[in-house]
Amino acid sequence: MKDTIQHKEAEARMLPGSITAQGFLGEDSRRVAEIVEADEGEFRRLGLVFEIVAAELERLRDLGERGLGEPVTVDGTWLVQTGDARGKLACPYEDGIYHKNSVWLKRVDSGEALVYTDLSIHLLREHHFLQGRGSGFRLEPAALKRVLGL
Ligand SMILES: [Zn+2]
Repeated sequence: MKDTIQHKEAEARMLPGSITAQGFLGEDSRRVAEIVEADEGEFRRLGLVFEIVAAELERLRDLGERGLGEPVTVDGTWLVQTGDARGKLACPYEDGIYHKNSVWLKRVDSGEALVYTDLSIHLLREHHFLQGRGSGFRLEPAALKRVLGL
């Protein structure tokens, strides 16, 4: 469980124009500590484990990177396309710097897709932060479950 003070310090860096132009909170008006608590509850309810989800997102990213920017079919289940925007992003919790890549992951059967970055994986694994509602990189727990098939 991460402490509230740490979330409060990171919160300012999540606003638009600090680390990224659009920020990490979307139109979500909740405090970061509340977003994290709600998503931890959703993970428990859905039987998801942060470390396992992070490892699966990384595995699919690594396989997708073999396409060098072209979409790759993985395990007959997903289409994965990776892009590299060049440049780096600091974690709002100030414990690391990540490549500004993006991974587009789409389930072949349902067509449902997720978009994520190395920083999203880190935020999920280390801080249990899936970004605010309305953020372009928000990872909704139920969508993670459906798309990853966990
Ligand atoms: Zn961090």
